[in-house]
Parts: sequence; C-alpha cells; structure tokens
Amino acid sequence: MTKRALITGIAGQDGSYLAEFLLDKGYQVYGMVRRSSVPKYDNIAHILPDITLLDGDLLDQSSLIEVIEAAQPDEIYNLAAQSHVGLSFHQPSATVQITGIGVLRLLEAVRITAGCSTGVRFYQASTSELYGNAVHSPQNEDTPMHPRSPYGCAKLFAHHMVKNYREAYGLFACSGILYNHESPRRGLDFVTRKITDGVAQIACGKKSCIELGNLQARRDWGFAGDYVQAMWLMLQQDQPKDYVIATGEWHSVSEFLIKACVLAGIDVDDGTIILDGEKRPADIDCLCGDASLAREELGWRPRTSFSELVQMMVQEDMRKHATTKSTPEERLVAD
Ligand code: NAP
Repeated sequence: MTKRALITGIAGQDGSYLAEFLLDKGYQVYGMVRRSSVPKYDNIAHILPDITLLDGDLLDQSSLIEVIEAAQPDEIYNLAAQSHVGLSFHQPSATVQITGIGVLRLLEAVRITAGCSTGVRFYQASTSELYGNAVHSPQNEDTPMHPRSPYGCAKLFAHHMVKNYREAYGLFACSGILYNHESPRRGLDFVTRKITDGVAQIACGKKSCIELGNLQARRDWGFAGDYVQAMWLMLQQDQPKDYVIATGEWHSVSEFLIKACVLAGIDVDDGTIILDGEKRPADIDCLCGDASLAREELGWRPRTSFSELVQMMVQEDMRKHATTKSTPEERLVAD
C-alpha cells in the first residue's frame, strides 16, 4: 500500500528535500503551509504537481486537526518552526508560540484525531541548539542540555513534549537532534547563505560588502539533502528513539567565509568586504555532534564534505547572480 506522509514546513529548506526523498520512495506526500499574501514556493516549485498542499498553522489548533484528518498520514514530519536563532531574540513570544507550543498543538491534534497508538509515526525537528555551550564535545544523546536562545528554549520544550507523548500515550515519536545543515535552498538570513549569496553578489559587482556577526563561532555543518534521509530512517525502526545527526567536524564562520571568497575569486585579504553585523545577546562558541548511535543503529552517515557543501552553495549563488540583472535596490547598496 502507498504510504502517506505529512510534512509541516514543506516549503522550507528541509521540507523540500524531504518531499523529494519521499516522492522517490513512492510516498503520497502532503505538505502543510500557512497562508501568506504572496506565497513563496521556490523550493518546491518543481514538485508542486506531485504533492498536495494543505493550509494549516502551528498557531491554530483546529487547522492542525483538519490537516491531519485530510492527509490521514502514516508518518508526520514536523519541520515547521520559526527557525532563526537571531530573530528569536527579537520575537521571543512568537518563537515560543510557534516553535514550542506549536509542537504541543500538533501532538494534541494527533492524539485527538488518529489516536497515539494507531500506528502513526511522528518526527520532530530538534536541534543542536538544545546543548548551548555544552559541557563536553562532541555532544551525544546523553549530553546535558542548556539552550542559550529563545529558539533553543522553545525547541527544548518541544523535545520534552515529544518524549512525554511517547512515554504517556505510546506514540511512535522520535526527535532528530540535527546539527546545522545547509544547502542552496537555505534562507538568505542564515549565516552560510548570507556568505555564499554575498560573495556571489560581490563577484558579480552587485554588492560591495557583507554584514556578519560572530566570525569566531564554530559549527558542525552538513548538507540538508543528506540529513533528510536520517529523518526517514528514524521512523522506519522497530522502536522510537532520539538521535544526534551530525558530521562530527567543526569549522568556524571565518573558515566558511574564506573558502567561499576563494571559490568566488574574491580577495580575502582586502579587508573591506566584511561589515560588523549584529551580535547575539548570548551566543554559542562551538557545537560539534557525535552521531555514533545513528551510524550504528540507522546505518546513516553524511555523504557531503564541508568543502563540497561550500562549493555547491557558492556555485549555485554565482550561477543565480550571473544570470540575473541587479535590481535598483541592489544597485543602490552596491553604490
Ligand atoms: P526553514 O527553511 O526556516 O523552514 C521552516 C518552515 O516552517 C517554513 O516553510 C515556514 O513557512 C514554516 N513555518 C513557520 N512558522 C509556521 C507556522 N506558524 N505554521 C506553519 N508553518 C510555519 O527551516 P529548515 O532549515 O528547513 O529547518 C527545518 C526544521 O529543522 C525547523 O524546525 C528547524 O528549526 C529545524 N532545524 C534546522 C536546522 C538547520 O540547520 N537547518 C538544524 C536543526 C534543526 P513560512 O515560509 O511561511 O515562514
């Protein structure tokens, strides 16, 4: 029988890769999107004829019930979130409502409609931000959690709620503790994409500088296309469990920047291209994950190296900017 999957946040970076992955596996794919005046479906434009979009919002309980009733999913992947750590300091309540309580609403929708013990399987997008400035490195599933942002706190609440529904109601629910993963589909306000899009614009003469925050921050960066496979594998196991998904290597923001500049043919030593951007009220120095459990039990490992990832992103942004004329706004910034 054809399996049915519901993906919340399907138009985001991970949602789009996961939808492609599940379509390849023969799934019937439903995607939840929230209404916006001007819908942005760039990431899923190429698969729109193959998927069914349903209107729903993590802020609204009844819409979630309706979405689940319409999709009748075997598997639910909850990827929707206010996912930007920096923004969460400016919009803490909205972040907690969407990224934290929103997950509780979705779990309640599952309990009310399908019933937790009916076999529906639930994936929650947890994050390395749960660890904060972790007590040891690399972090694994047993490392104490101490988030350092409203985003991290909201995700920690969601992480515990998922565990609670697993223990209290027998729901087959897993959280993937995913470390940073990037791609050409990453939003433009995330640091890696800010860099690759920025250097591509500089190389094409559309811009003269990039604004960046903490250049010393070190992160464990993988490719989003590799990470969605781990989400699916978690829901195919006999027992639900939480897993760290990471490459096990860390690199600094400045290392990412230098690699991107070299690939774009920009003079790294010029000293004029980086502007001092906003620093977060509390930041995390270094995150690096130990994905041994996922390797042993899921057979998962990342396939794309750090260098390949930076190259893929720079190439795509260079291609995009080389083929598009700059807008009047971009020309103003470049001047
Ligand atoms: P993303 O590109 O920001 O996608 C998030 C999606 O959630 C967007 O499509 C967004 O829709 C949707 N959304 C936001 N608020 C919503 C609401 N109230 N109701 C319904 N949908 C809503 O994020 P991503 O990088 O794909 O990440 C996917 C998930 O993994 C997120 O939960 C993120 O926090 C988590 N995560 C990501 C990383 C990473 O490095 N990428 C690491 C760990 C965990 P709009 O376009 O309407 O805003």
